[in-house]
Amino acid sequence: MRELNGRPVAEAIGEEIKEKLPGVEMMLGRKPKLAVIRCGEKPEDLSYERNAIRRIREFGMEAESIVFPEDVNDNIFQRAFGKINEDKRTDGILLMRPLPPQLNEGFIISCMDSEKDVDGISPVNAAGLYLGTDGFAPCTAQAVVELLKYYKISLAGKNVGIIGRSNVVGKPLSMLLLKEDATVTICHSRTAELQKVSRRADILISAIGRPRMINSDYIKRSCVVIDVGINTDRDGKLCGDVDFEDCRLKASAITPVPGGVGAVTTAVLAKHLLLAANRDLL
Ligand code: NAP
Repeated sequence: MRELNGRPVAEAIGEEIKEKLPGVEMMLGRKPKLAVIRCGEKPEDLSYERNAIRRIREFGMEAESIVFPEDVNDNIFQRAFGKINEDKRTDGILLMRPLPPQLNEGFIISCMDSEKDVDGISPVNAAGLYLGTDGFAPCTAQAVVELLKYYKISLAGKNVGIIGRSNVVGKPLSMLLLKEDATVTICHSRTAELQKVSRRADILISAIGRPRMINSDYIKRSCVVIDVGINTDRDGKLCGDVDFEDCRLKASAITPVPGGVGAVTTAVLAKHLLLAANRDLL
């Protein structure tokens, strides 16, 4: 069984960024800058924000965290968001979601400048993904494709099973995989005979958020298993959706958690920021 580590993939993306960054800096007269917008202090938001900011700075770009209280008023938030959205020195925006319930998340997302929407959440970028035109895909979905390409796991003609149909991972990923000529099956909590369906996949991608639910009964022999899940088990330990130990003898390759897809996601975010700062590179 081959362990598909995300770190070398992230490093390769970093090399690409470092090569193109000087030209972009020269054109802008400054470094590309990401604004991370967060409401409240949710531990999962803080952890993702920390990793994203560290990675952007590591690659030589700027990142700033803009924090609002959890109970921020909708008007105040919309006005502040509008200013960041229009700020000429901000090239990319990462909005930590879900937003608190008093905020009109749908409206805010629809106002986001699609050219700054580095995590592909705005309707313009979502439409671009479905229509196959230019734009940013959500970073995690893109990270899965980057990882498979780095390890030269071909997608054309393969049966790819995705478990999870969220707008952040499952759905956009299905579009990216179709573009690579894979035959895609999307499963979810109402899929009948999930194990039978998932065992047909040559490549199985899990994005469900259930600690170690995917054991060897869900995969066929020599399957490639991509674990997008980031969960905490009963002992408070970080783990994926996949029971790595149970699947390791049956699968041909598996991504670890941590150190798999998550490590690539922030590198993709950094690459999207560079592209947002100079769309000629798209
Ligand atoms: P989500 O919005 O909660 O969606 C979960 C999906 O899994 C839903 O489509 C749900 O089906 C399906 N599901 C839940 N339980 C299931 C079950 N028992 N059998 C079959 N399907 C089931 O979650 P998400 O935002 O997509 O995130 C999924 C996981 O990925 C989480 O662990 C999250 O932390 C992780 N994640 C990782 C990264 C990264 O960079 N690696 C980024 C984002 C998210 P229904 O639609 O029928 O409810």
